[in-house]
Amino acid sequence: MTKPIALITGANRGIGFAVARALSMRDIKVLIAARNLAKAESAAAEIGHGAIGIALDVTNLDAIKAARQKIEAEFGALQILVNNAGIAIDQWVPALEVDTGRVRETFETNFVGALACCQAFLPGMINAGYGRVVNVSSELASMTNMQMGRTLAYRSSKAAMNAMTRILALECKDTPDLKINAACPGWVRTELGGPDAPRTVEEGADTIVWLATLPPDGASGGLFRDRAPYAW
Ligand code: NAP
Repeated sequence: MTKPIALITGANRGIGFAVARALSMRDIKVLIAARNLAKAESAAAEIGHGAIGIALDVTNLDAIKAARQKIEAEFGALQILVNNAGIAIDQWVPALEVDTGRVRETFETNFVGALACCQAFLPGMINAGYGRVVNVSSELASMTNMQMGRTLAYRSSKAAMNAMTRILALECKDTPDLKINAACPGWVRTELGGPDAPRTVEEGADTIVWLATLPPDGASGGLFRDRAPYAW
């Protein structure tokens, strides 16, 4: 049997790198996608297990198309897609003061980029009748738990990603072994999370890896934190 293929966006560092490493240790061939090819290849070399680096800026539709063509030509369909690439460039800025250009930039990466990757790779999964998609979201986007202001661009882009997760899962419900979920990694020590975050990247990766390897009777269309449902 050939190994399942997983594509992880923004996998050259942080949580994405930890997800890639954990999946590679489960006998999954990982494609380390990063906007800088040299960084993708260096991360793939560090992971080993046949990991491959590919260039992929999720805001560049041509790059997504090229990545899809390369993956289809070399491996056929993708089995696992982890939409991990993300930016937070309005941290703690009040909504009334946030630069709208930064809001657009955030949505382009965190929401439109993830949607474009789904549009590129889900048709292959539907054809194959199998797939696992994990959208890396944030508890800061939970409408139920939204008790403080600030960081509107980042949080609303992840809320949009949550809505996308539900909508895509509903649209794909006729492919029962295609599971599309969103994950909250918790507050994790990375460049984005900062040095004071309590979680390691391995802890942040855990629920993402769990969702990426769900069994056929696993959930679809949910938001999870610590392997348990989390309020939208
Ligand atoms: P990180 O260390 O800053 O890593 C972010 C990754 O995304 C980097 O590899 C970065 O690539 C990549 N990226 C940014 N823009 C991209 C683009 N246009 N195309 C492709 N890749 C792009 O942050 P992290 O904490 O690991 O974050 C990973 C995910 O977890 C994000 O979606 C984030 O929102 C989410 N998250 C993190 C936390 C936390 O506490 N850390 C909490 C909740 C959710 P470059 O190296 O090229 O910049």
